[in-house]
Amino acid sequence: MEKKYKLIFDTLEKMHENAVCELNYDTDFHLLVAVILSAQCTDARVNKITPKLFEKYKTPEDMASADIDELKELIKSCGFYNAKANSIISASRDIVEKYNSRLPENVDELMKLKGVGRKTANVVYSVAFKGNAIAVDTHVLRVSYRLGLSSQNKNPLITEKDLNAKFDENLWGKLHHLLIHHGRYICKARKPDCKICELKNQCKYFNGELKSE
Ligand code: SF4
Repeated sequence: MEKKYKLIFDTLEKMHENAVCELNYDTDFHLLVAVILSAQCTDARVNKITPKLFEKYKTPEDMASADIDELKELIKSCGFYNAKANSIISASRDIVEKYNSRLPENVDELMKLKGVGRKTANVVYSVAFKGNAIAVDTHVLRVSYRLGLSSQNKNPLITEKDLNAKFDENLWGKLHHLLIHHGRYICKARKPDCKICELKNQCKYFNGELKSE
């Protein structure tokens, strides 16, 4: 791994000592549900919904046989609740019917679950199974582009590959959380807090080297 990327990783780690998954969950299955709910929604909002939800639906079996209208009612405040309810029930049925009620432990198999895309599969693989994966969300996309870690900010798969190529594999899981924290709390979309950012020297955005965002 090149020194300049190690420096960026170390600086992010110094700035975000407590960067971990901010979704609350108690089982691997509940993590999957929380990640599906977190699309286009804040983790804080998801964490308000999940205590009641997880109490009512403890296992994939419970969720696979859920009444979809009751499920929608419980999750409606996190947006896109029709699609999310369908995804959660479909994925739960797949887990019960095809995987003996246990979450598959690799990204390709997780992505075979209905309603589970690459980002969700990467988060679950990395957080629940401590696998090496970088889930690219809107924060990771933006911060990676601003720092020059990816040449574009439109395609999550390209950003994931760019990050995979630049950082040692054993750092991928941690890097995902660091970039999310940095994007959420400092390198915000509209007004990045560059004054307090320790990555100014490494940053293409700060140094006016980006043509556009
Ligand atoms: S210097 Fe500004 S734009 Fe660059 S990473 Fe830091 S906060 Fe983001």
